Amino acid sequence: MENFEQKIERLKEYLSGGPKKIAVLSHTNPDGDAIGSSLAWAKVLRSLGHDVACMVPNRYPSFLAWMPGIGNVIIAKENNDRALEVIDDADLIFCLDFNSIDRLENLRQHIVGNERAERILIDHHLDPPVNEYALAFSDPQSCSTSYLVYKITERFVGLDVFDKDAAVALYVGIMTDTGNFSFSFLTADLFRAVAGLVDKGINIPEINSNVYNAYNEGRVRLLGYVLMDKMKIIENGRAAYIGLQEHELRRFDFQIGDSEGFVNYPLSIGSVQMSAMFLETHKFIRISLRSRGAVDVSLFAARYFGGGGHKNAAGGKSFESMHKTIEKFKAAVAEYFSEEKI
Ligand code: 5GP
Ligand code: MN
Repeated sequence: MENFEQKIERLKEYLSGGPKKIAVLSHTNPDGDAIGSSLAWAKVLRSLGHDVACMVPNRYPSFLAWMPGIGNVIIAKENNDRALEVIDDADLIFCLDFNSIDRLENLRQHIVGNERAERILIDHHLDPPVNEYALAFSDPQSCSTSYLVYKITERFVGLDVFDKDAAVALYVGIMTDTGNFSFSFLTADLFRAVAGLVDKGINIPEINSNVYNAYNEGRVRLLGYVLMDKMKIIENGRAAYIGLQEHELRRFDFQIGDSEGFVNYPLSIGSVQMSAMFLETHKFIRISLRSRGAVDVSLFAARYFGGGGHKNAAGGKSFESMHKTIEKFKAAVAEYFSEEKI
């Protein structure tokens, strides 16, 4: 197995021999880590003289819209021609914050179709399909892809390439993926890296406020409705779920990203170890799963809903009705908890 240093050497080789056209791609429903890691990595590549475009399949949530440089991120769904052109022209494609290119949905075909461009992965999800990539920086022990970008950059070109904007991007990724420094992988090294970002001049209270106190009225009222009426507790208090249908979302003038974080609330109940949210879209039901401790929702998502993710944060999709999906979930939870003997 290739070690980190050897991978850095290969990365240098891929980026040598003059300026390249590079596409930096991240996942559908981009979150703070997807955008933060992409913007910071683009900065590193540009500092080496490369021509870089960042791209995501669909729009990021509005609470990220203030991020420096986000206006240049290509949103494939809204600018399909430009997106395909960038992918077709790319000499090199970086895939950030997702493991399988299947997660890029309809862009997948084009990416695989560009046989000239090598693909390089930078990601912290479990079980990356490494054969999809020429080089894979995969570290499921990293709290975020943004922190992985920081570590790679440190060894690759040094941290001087990061200016304040890049530091802001990295901090947003780290802050959001760690649930504001409350989930796992909070190492001393991570806090030293954050100290380095503070040295670059980032304003933490301002970033915090930009991300967490920038909701629209509809979202806050929808949260009230969810907690009051929609959160159901099952399995003797050990599991909870929330199902939201399109007609309910319309009532609260739902915008993409408004339900971000809702799935975490049931876990603030002492007994709850697994939480699920089912969000209806016009094509399918998006499933978000969260857990604590030994309860592994990545396994659960893969086994029952063809999804995946991390041990304590995973997701998937259902193409059945809300009712059937929830019935399936309840049966799955009963089976899972009986087997795990938790
Ligand atoms: P979220 O609930 O925030 O949408 O997703 C939580 C985690 O689960 C993310 O890290 C994401 O990568 C993973 N995830 C969400 N949906 C899917 C899916 O459909 N397939 C896989 N493999 N992972 C998913
Ligand atoms: Mn991430």
